[in-house]
Amino acid sequence: MKLIADTHTHTIASTHAYSTLQENVSAAAKMGLYALAVTDHGALMPGAPGRWYFENLRVVPRKLDGVLVLRGEEADLVDAEGHTDLIPTDLETLDWVVASIHRQVFRRYVPVGNGFRPVELPGPATKEEVTQAWLNIAKNPRVNVIGHSGTAEYPYDYETVIPEFGRNAKLVELNESTFSGRKSSVPNCRAIMELCKKCGVPIIVNSDAHFSTRIGCFPNSLRLLEEIGFPEELVVNSSAERFEAYLREYTGVFRGE
Ligand SMILES: [Zn+2]
Ligand SMILES: [Zn+2]
Repeated sequence: MKLIADTHTHTIASTHAYSTLQENVSAAAKMGLYALAVTDHGALMPGAPGRWYFENLRVVPRKLDGVLVLRGEEADLVDAEGHTDLIPTDLETLDWVVASIHRQVFRRYVPVGNGFRPVELPGPATKEEVTQAWLNIAKNPRVNVIGHSGTAEYPYDYETVIPEFGRNAKLVELNESTFSGRKSSVPNCRAIMELCKKCGVPIIVNSDAHFSTRIGCFPNSLRLLEEIGFPEELVVNSSAERFEAYLREYTGVFRGE
């Protein structure tokens, strides 16, 4: 299987990633990718991009070095009610949203007015809370990708939630960085992929690159998919036609072309 898009990548705008958008695009072009989504972290992540960063992504050319560039964000889940740190005015610009749980944000804020207020972390998250959070995210029409949900720290009821992701056209991510940075999560990722296969839920493989040399590199993910005999037709970024069909149906990328 060859993958043609990397839709979860970070730039220096995240302030804990080390390549520019141009460097990432050049790397994507070198890897022969059809599309790259730039998905820096949302507003509540420590060191997040400045207030106008996402809204102004419209200045980035749609095609650069022959690569389709998607204007994205990796948004944070805030609580079990499904709140995220996505900002409505940013959503007018954004093509692509990855929703993820990070311990720096999840349950550390409560919604107040148009924003959030930090609170003391109320003990470890329960499986019920995480399950509820993902069920609510499944219903968010602006979320495209369920980011690294196999994180060992935040287990949820896979049997209940994975079919809901499928019913709501959410792409369940297999995240290459898990194999180097979050090894304890690998068994969960395998279980999630096996369930996606069983339930016919589409997935997407992403690098979650925080440096340009990682763009478009997915060796461990591809090995895992091969080991479990994962069907290629459920991997949305396994062909340009398949990925473009998803973009046409669920995003505004080609609107007004
Ligand atoms: Zn990051
Ligand atoms: Zn993440």
